Amino acid sequence: MDLSISDDQRMYVETVQKFVRQDVLPGILDREKDHDFPLDLIRKAWELGLLNLSIPASVRGYDMDLVSTALIVKELSYGDTGLSTSAMCNDLANVVVAMNGTDEQRELFLRPFTEEPVLASFCLTEPGAGSDNSAMTTFMRKQDDGTYLLNGEKCFITNASYATQFTVFCKVGKPGGLMMACLVIPHETVSKADITTLPSGGREIRLPGGGVVVTGKPETKLGQRLSNTATVNFEDVVVPGDWIIGNRRLGFQYAMDVLDYARPMVAAIGLGLARRAFDVTIAYTRDRSQFGERICDMPVARNTLVDMWKKVETAEAILMKAACKIEEETDDRGIFASFAKNAAAEAALFCAAEGLHLHGGYGFMEEYEISKLLRDAQIVDIYEGTREVQDMIIGRELA
Ligand SMILES: Cc1cc2nc3c(=O)[nH]c(=O)nc-3n(C[C@H](O)[C@H](O)[C@H](O)COP(=O)(O)OP(=O)(O)OC[C@H]3O[C@@H](n4cnc5c(N)ncnc54)[C@H](O)[C@@H]3O)c2cc1C
Repeated sequence: MDLSISDDQRMYVETVQKFVRQDVLPGILDREKDHDFPLDLIRKAWELGLLNLSIPASVRGYDMDLVSTALIVKELSYGDTGLSTSAMCNDLANVVVAMNGTDEQRELFLRPFTEEPVLASFCLTEPGAGSDNSAMTTFMRKQDDGTYLLNGEKCFITNASYATQFTVFCKVGKPGGLMMACLVIPHETVSKADITTLPSGGREIRLPGGGVVVTGKPETKLGQRLSNTATVNFEDVVVPGDWIIGNRRLGFQYAMDVLDYARPMVAAIGLGLARRAFDVTIAYTRDRSQFGERICDMPVARNTLVDMWKKVETAEAILMKAACKIEEETDDRGIFASFAKNAAAEAALFCAAEGLHLHGGYGFMEEYEISKLLRDAQIVDIYEGTREVQDMIIGRELA
């Protein structure tokens, strides 16, 4: 395991840092106050090659290793974790195609992402099936002509209001059974659909092959307001066989494989946020004096800064170890992916909460970025598997 950074990786990091400094951080508090979806930033990030990092060389011409991906996501998240959540969601939706799709499916489902800054959604969670995905009820029924009919409701879906491609997990086989499939409603089809914007802000997407995808009113969230989140309903969507990824009975395994890939990415999101919280707090406590002394020079406050720094560095070390293990496909990669996610979420929550505390009353004011960071940090501990779910995975592997 080599944890040193290559020249290429250093170049990626510098590119993202420049983008974040020049385009993301200026005006970030105004953008997020209005739940302003940052299509301009998404386009610029795409132009810089910071999106769709999981698309394989067979489609794009080059591969991006997981350590580089984690470094890019971390730096983007230093600017804003709503932006990086939306950006990373394309990989969440597309990596299953990269891993299990046929050559034709890779071309059909992944090529559009190399040609324009389009967005995808990963549709797994349902109102009654969150941590327990196996309880999902979205169902795909086989028809006499060999196609399937998809019906069901997904919730909390990132990019739902803007996506032109949907990766969907659903039950198949006997109604109420356990067999799960994974399918993609492709960009090619959605872009030819008849799309109506509803008064709620949702969309009704009438697919040319039959059926409707309805996205709900964009959710109003506590944090990560630059990301878009909404429900997605599938109503009698006709699914041809070639939209189904891999073996139609192995969807649950595919979903778990995607989450193994994605957890280090969420860890990178948490780590970027934790680092930003640490940096804005150091800057503030150097600037602010009480009792004739800078806050950062007071022993108790300095201890807190030291604890924040340790959390960031520990989370980074675990993330890099997890990324290397996944790259090397070691047997214990899953527990390190979960550990990295939990360590980064803990660092993000700790640094944002303690950072706010060190800002005193000013930290509680909306004009100070630390208050936004504390709101944003909450979801890192929840999405793509809560802290308890990660611990369940670690415990199961260890015992
Ligand atoms: C902003 C946002 C974006 C999201 N984006 C997506 C997306 O793009 N695609 C997608 O499919 N989903 C997405 N999600 C859904 C997210 O992954 C789920 O919210 C998450 O997995 C938790 O599921 P739940 O909300 O149903 O909580 P629940 O599963 O109901 O959990 C509630 C509480 O119970 C605890 N709990 C549950 N089971 C156990 C157990 N066995 N032992 C101990 N404690 C337990 C949990 O840890 C949690 O604290 C998103 C959510 C949000 C808020």
